[in-house]
Amino acid sequence: MTDDLILQVKNLRTYFTVDEGLVKAVDGVSFDLRKGETLGIVGESGSGKSVTNLSIINLIPSPPGKIVGGEVVFHGKDILKMSPNEIRHLRGNKVSMIFQDPMTSLNPFLKVSTQMIETIVLHQGLDKKAAKEKAIEMLKLAGIPAPEKRIDQYPHQFSGGMRQRVMIAMGLSCNPEILIADEPTSALDVTIQAQILELIQELTRKLGTAVILITHSLGVVAGMCDTLCVMYAGRIIERGKTDEVFEKPLHPYTQGLIHSVPRLDRENKERLYSIQGQPPNVIDLPDCCPFYPRCEKAMDICKKKYPASVGLGNGRAVSCWLYSEGNK
Ligand code: SF4
Repeated sequence: MTDDLILQVKNLRTYFTVDEGLVKAVDGVSFDLRKGETLGIVGESGSGKSVTNLSIINLIPSPPGKIVGGEVVFHGKDILKMSPNEIRHLRGNKVSMIFQDPMTSLNPFLKVSTQMIETIVLHQGLDKKAAKEKAIEMLKLAGIPAPEKRIDQYPHQFSGGMRQRVMIAMGLSCNPEILIADEPTSALDVTIQAQILELIQELTRKLGTAVILITHSLGVVAGMCDTLCVMYAGRIIERGKTDEVFEKPLHPYTQGLIHSVPRLDRENKERLYSIQGQPPNVIDLPDCCPFYPRCEKAMDICKKKYPASVGLGNGRAVSCWLYSEGNK
């Protein structure tokens, strides 16, 4: 690993066995994360982005899920082979997660102070007094007014946006190296969304934390992420520097996603583009390009074989027969 490389996900595969068959929710996902980098994982519901991130911290409910292959190397050590003790130390301390709905993570029966102090004492080894000071400092950084008073309130006494600020403060209170934010703004209204994203960006830059941001919104990714992975049916179908992918999307799915975003700088009154068809049924998917029923450029080979990922340099890669040697 080079010095600034902190996480390498290599050929990660997480499958779920359900009554109807096998769901390959994550099927051969690979990416690197560097210190201070913000990486966006974008895709429709069911594309495997959340399962990828739950797999990274080994939080897949088993059964029905199982990580069947791959490695998640954090500072040279495979998280998937860590003991329960090592994993406990990693979660919260080195890798934190914030979710779409803070109420799923905050205990409604406990004051914010109790929850934050407990986390800081457990992971940072501070005494209760020092932990409370740290918690207040983090709430202040996260933009909670009068944090000395509000820390002793219950989660229901905070608005949705304020609760998400509490979660961010809590997530960053142990100085993690990686913050995984799973659709952190989807449950909030638009003006609050922008504030929360700005806050995540500001705080993680200040603290040097790397971020994995999971979202279905390309707008969020464009404003915030250095690098971008586009997922479809459990695989990364395109990745690269965010500005390069936006400037020249290669995969027909990425092209469709980008063209379907409304743009204020477009004069014409044409109907907004939408990708035809529906996302595939991921149960027992055949090993071909899963996008072919929706793809305007589909060829015969697309229905027969999955296109390998083609590296194009500078971290850019795409899985599509249009760019594969095997098609020529
Ligand atoms: Fe379309 Fe074929 Fe490329 Fe799949 S592999 S995106 S079907 S051109």
